[in-house]
This record gives sequence, structure tokens and C-alpha cells, in this order.
Amino acid sequence: MHELKEKIIAMDAWHCQLPVNARRDHGIGSVLGTIDIVIIRLTSESGVKGFGEASPWPVFNGSAEATLSAFNRYFKPHVLNKSVAERASIMRLAEKSVVHCFDAKAALETALLDLSGKLTSLPVYELLGGRVRETIPLSVSIANPDFDQDKALADRIHSDGVRLIKLKTGFKSHAFDLQRIEYFQKHFPETAIRIDYNQGLEPVDALRTVKDIDAMNVSFIEQPVAAKHWQCMRRLRDATTAPLLADESVFTPDDMVKAAEAGICDAVSVKIMKCGGLTRGREIASVAEAAGIAAYGGDMFESGLAHMAGAQLIAACQNISLGCEFYQAKYYLNEDILAQPFPCENGLVSVPDKPGLGIEINEDAIVSYSINSISQTVS
Ligand code: MG
Repeated sequence: MHELKEKIIAMDAWHCQLPVNARRDHGIGSVLGTIDIVIIRLTSESGVKGFGEASPWPVFNGSAEATLSAFNRYFKPHVLNKSVAERASIMRLAEKSVVHCFDAKAALETALLDLSGKLTSLPVYELLGGRVRETIPLSVSIANPDFDQDKALADRIHSDGVRLIKLKTGFKSHAFDLQRIEYFQKHFPETAIRIDYNQGLEPVDALRTVKDIDAMNVSFIEQPVAAKHWQCMRRLRDATTAPLLADESVFTPDDMVKAAEAGICDAVSVKIMKCGGLTRGREIASVAEAAGIAAYGGDMFESGLAHMAGAQLIAACQNISLGCEFYQAKYYLNEDILAQPFPCENGLVSVPDKPGLGIEINEDAIVSYSINSISQTVS
């Protein structure tokens, strides 16, 4: 018999580099070869294990080296020998122990929730208040500078039932972006095309560029300019008919309050790796909902473990209604760290009705992709 008040007696973390199958370009940087993630594992007195993932991207939300250090130096004293039932206070202390490191905080909360769910035989979404949806529409991002490779990907995802595409723009020419939108609209007319600049436009000509895109009837336009250019975001929002979505401009619940006041967006990308976990992600979605702003389930470069943490949040969060982009486990990684395929069929991610995150971890894969690790057991 397991109990929520069991103590956490071991904390392990691995910095892993997972090989990927293509180059990807974004407005703020490129990815090729591998992605970096950090996996944390917490073990309770009865030997039950909870897992969490941090997904840092240095140009966006931080580095894996900082994440591993956050676990090892700043979180460890607040985790070891604490009861799993103290989840909220552990997270409060972890948040205060080091600034930023939101991906590390997300991993810690994910592992605590996974462990809590396994000890109580409840899915994570039940710990968050209960399920409002069982499946989530999947969006796949198109970001290869070699467009012929992305055409093959588009054919594959279309035959798999995916009907949401997010086209990464602003890393080559405007003409290249327009040509790709035309291609998808012609070949996949029933697929919704979303646009994501990842801050790739300069404010001086962003209006002209974004208006061209808006004229092509895309379903939303994400983060055209740098995160700090809120006034420009507001001007672009006022000038376009497509919803303007904020991603890099809104990391935390505080940001969301200010963004709503400033009127910079119609929608927001909620990512547990930006805000520090599922609880903070739900706060962002709630603030957005109160302000009439829709939410989208964004992600970083992740394995199926972080995807499932995000999916559990969306399952329990009514306002994250614009689908999710948890495609890397199925379409981008050479090998995932889950023991079974990430649950995604017919263009829908499904949320398991099982304790904790509801997934099995392939611990051998974690060790085989690890380039650095820490391990601490209560003596
Ligand atoms: Mg984005």
C-alpha cells in the first residue's frame, strides 16, 4: 500500500542529447543533430518513481547545464527527505531558490505529480481538478530550410490525419514564406495553416510583411517580433484580422496579466517550460480566459515525457483550446525515451487513463543518451 506522505529518498538527473531526423530553422535560431533535455527521477520510500523532463533551448529558455545545476545545487535541499504530499511547498521553495530555470521547475513539478499520481492511483489530470477533454488536436511544425523534405513530411502527416500545420517563417525570404503557404493551401485545403515567426521580423517592416500573410487567410500569426516589442505586437494585432498569438512575449502568469492589459495578443502559447510547470501554466490559461484570450498548447524541443506533462495540463484546462504541438516524439526524434509510442493517432493526442503521467519510461534509453548526470540518495 502506497501513501502520499511517503518521503522522497533519492533524486537522479540526466542531461541527455537525443538525435533528430532533420534540420530546423526558426526566427531565433536553428536545431540540427541533437536536442538537449534533462530528465529528473524522484524515488519514494516504497520504491515508486516519478519522472519529469526539462526541455531547454539556449536561445529561448535556458541551457541544459544550468538546468542540471539547478537540480543539483538549488532544488535538492528542498526535495530530499520531504514528503510527496508537500508538493506545493516544495515547488514554492524551489521557485524561490533560483531565478528563471523555468524548465527545471517544470521538470520538478512533473516528477512530483507523476509520483503523487502513482502513489494515489490517480492520473495527473485528476490531481489538477479533472478532465475536460480526452484528446487534443495535434499541430506539426514545418521548419526545414530544404522545403522538399518538408513536402514529404507534409504528405506523411496528412495521411496520418493531422489537419493543423504551423509554418515557421522569417528565417529565409518573405517570398519563400508566401510560396510555402500557397503550396499548403493548394495541396491540403482542409488543413489549417498557422504561422510562427519566432521573433524573426524587425519592427520597422513587420507591419507590411504581416499584412501580406494576413491577406492569405491563415488561422493565426505567432510572435512576429522580438519578445520585448510589445507596442509593435499591439500595432500588428490592431492591423490584422487573423488572431495574433504571443509566445516569447509571455513566459509567466505575471507576463500574461500585463499582456492582457496592454492588448498585445488574441491568443497565447502556454508552455510549461516557459512558466515553470503545470500549475503556473494553468494560471496563465486562467488569466487569459478571464481576459477573453484563447490558449494554445506549445512546447519546446521535447521527448514524449514532457509532451505528456503538457497533455495532462491541457486535458484539465478548458481554455487551452487551440490544440497542441507535441509532435517531436512521433515525427522528429530518432528514438523517444518512452517504452511505448507516444499516444497520437489520427491527428489527435490522447491522454491515458492511468496513474501519474500514464506512461512507461525506457530508463536504458535515458542512460544511453546521457552525457552528464547527478545522483543523490538519503543516507
Ligand atoms: Mg512559437
